[in-house]
Amino acid sequence: MPTTVRAYAATSPTDPLAPTTIDLRDVGPRDVRIDIRYVGICHSDIHTARSEWGATRYPVVLGHEIAGVVAEVGAEVSRFRVGDRVGVGCLVDSCRECRYCRRGDEQFCTEGYVETYSSTGRDGRPTQGGYAEGIVVTEDFVLRIPDGLALDVAAPLLCAGVTVYSPLRHWGAGPGTRVAVVGLGGLGHVAVQVAAALGAEVTVLSQSLRKQEDGLRLGAGHYAATSAPDTFARLAGSFDLVLNTVSASVDVDAYLSLLDVDGTLVNLGIPEHPQSLDVASLLMRRLSYAASNIGGIRETQEMLDFCAAHGIAAEVETIGVDRVDEAFDRVVASDVRYRFVIDTATLA
Ligand code: NAP
Ligand code: ZN
Ligand code: ZN
Repeated sequence: MPTTVRAYAATSPTDPLAPTTIDLRDVGPRDVRIDIRYVGICHSDIHTARSEWGATRYPVVLGHEIAGVVAEVGAEVSRFRVGDRVGVGCLVDSCRECRYCRRGDEQFCTEGYVETYSSTGRDGRPTQGGYAEGIVVTEDFVLRIPDGLALDVAAPLLCAGVTVYSPLRHWGAGPGTRVAVVGLGGLGHVAVQVAAALGAEVTVLSQSLRKQEDGLRLGAGHYAATSAPDTFARLAGSFDLVLNTVSASVDVDAYLSLLDVDGTLVNLGIPEHPQSLDVASLLMRRLSYAASNIGGIRETQEMLDFCAAHGIAAEVETIGVDRVDEAFDRVVASDVRYRFVIDTATLA
């Protein structure tokens, strides 16, 4: 039997989000139906709601930082039981057969993975995300939330967490590496914690010194304001890895100047407009400019377990769904410490 749930949807680039209902697909033999308890507001939700990445298909229920409790399982589900604490991130399906899916890197699926929202699901309908009371997901794409991680502070890890964990691991952040995190927002504040837990020397590069105390408390050894006139000159050549989490376009050449020989600037932010760079900025110190998109399911579980083991969680401001538009504006204004999380009980 399909289940109808209450949800909040974006209906145009400019209108406030509006209450709606969605019919979840029937729970198939390998499916899990989840009662969503909390859902984080990722900046990607805002880019999508406002059609900043090309034309969005409306109406769309956003949300890919989902934490909840299993409400129903299909007959062949083996890994989950009703009552389990679970999460869903940006991926809800993929081909499962290509070489990337087979090695657990579904984010590189050659067929294109199915995104939690704004994709076409296996039933042919547009997928709808987590600003809702429930979701049905095939068990292979459901994550286990470890004991000791509360659901509200775990939710943002499902996107922000894996998006920073994956490149930090890939580019070898650890003892002896100097990592800069640009932008202390949703992604950035988790990146600081993970990089510090991996043993790297961490510097926060924020627009101002407003959040300095938080940055140092989260595990950074250093903190600098990018608006200060001497910052780029003072820190030139002093990092092995720079993670750019800024949601807007930045001066790529300026951030490349901060790297030491063989260093890498990894772009995680997905700005509305293209960013360019001068090849000369890479040349003299054999630098790399890279980007990274979320992470696969196996790595997402690894990240959740790592966070639980190291006491890492998101710092959240929990809101009712009636405040979601105000929250969007505040995220764009960098006025949240550090992730809004919607309490889905307020949908009722
Ligand atoms: P967020 O919470 O808004 O954080 C972005 C931070 O960037 C802000 O806190 C602010 O930090 C800084 N910032 C914002 N506007 C700026 C500007 N005009 N100039 C300089 N700095 C500015 O956003 P988020 O949820 O962390 O997401 C960040 C970006 O990553 C978004 O574009 C999002 O779509 C993208 N994203 C990518 C992936 C991926 O897989 N690659 C996954 C999730 C999200 P300070 O106040 O410290 O300066
Ligand atoms: Zn996201
Ligand atoms: Zn595949």
